[in-house]
Amino acid sequence: MLSYLHGFHAGNFADVHKHHLLVCLLRALNRKPKPWSYLETHAGKARYDLNDAQALKTAEFQQGIARLWPVERLSESLQVYRDQVQHFNPTETLQFYPGSPALAAALAPEGSNIQLMELHPNEALALKQEFRQQAQVSVHHRDGYEGVLACLPPKPNRGVVLIDPSYEVKEEYKQVVNFIKAAYKRWPNGCFAIWYPILPAKRWVGMLEALRRTGIPHQLSSEVLVRQPSEQGMYGSGMLIINPPWQLQEELEATLPDLIQLLAQDAGAEGQVVMRVPEKSTRA
Ligand code: SAM
Repeated sequence: MLSYLHGFHAGNFADVHKHHLLVCLLRALNRKPKPWSYLETHAGKARYDLNDAQALKTAEFQQGIARLWPVERLSESLQVYRDQVQHFNPTETLQFYPGSPALAAALAPEGSNIQLMELHPNEALALKQEFRQQAQVSVHHRDGYEGVLACLPPKPNRGVVLIDPSYEVKEEYKQVVNFIKAAYKRWPNGCFAIWYPILPAKRWVGMLEALRRTGIPHQLSSEVLVRQPSEQGMYGSGMLIINPPWQLQEELEATLPDLIQLLAQDAGAEGQVVMRVPEKSTRA
């Protein structure tokens, strides 16, 4: 089913949470001056116009990136994320919002390997056009789970896989777990970042539990709830990181209060960063 179009949601609070975390992951890779690999199962487009009919219909970005846009002082990693968004805007007016592929391409050192999967024909075409002159980016119009698995382990052998489905169908939660089991076998030192929506049906709880039961060590979660749980609609955004880089937990914990304050829609806004499964002990 391909009815989901990210243009209706680009720059919303979930994008801010996900893309800030993605920027933290990629900056951690950049601590070493070496290229890396970046793979995405569900890439979407690389650039969204917040003045187009899709974005204006929902105006979700008003509760997301537009909240950060005018703030004078942000904590360091939020500032870096916003700087990336600013690079896509020629003037001081917020008009364009970069998708995850664009953020990854902007932060990638020369020689990196970026593999993007997108199944929707028009979105895949837009993605191809965006990167037609960037040799280190490959766009594949194919199923993201199969497509990324076929690329693992990648060269260079350090990097990130972003798994960002729309979860329109509930089977997707299971599909993510099955994908992780297979992908981790092929690339046990890869970092896997899984986004999930926090919705009244609470399906993410079962997914995280199933991921815990895989026996895969070192699983960190970050969740932001922008309002009190409601009976309808997404009220929070979550990310699970397998093999998080050194000090990511501390960085996310330090930024969390600012992020909650910026994105809060009522007094019930809260968040947490939790090491759900510890790193494997290296001691015998
Ligand atoms: N990752 C993007 C970002 O953060 O900017 C947003 C991606 S959006 C949430 C999900 C995308 O996955 C949509 O563009 C949709 O067309 C695409 N999609 C849905 N099912 C897919 C599949 N099985 N394989 C690849 N892409 C798929």
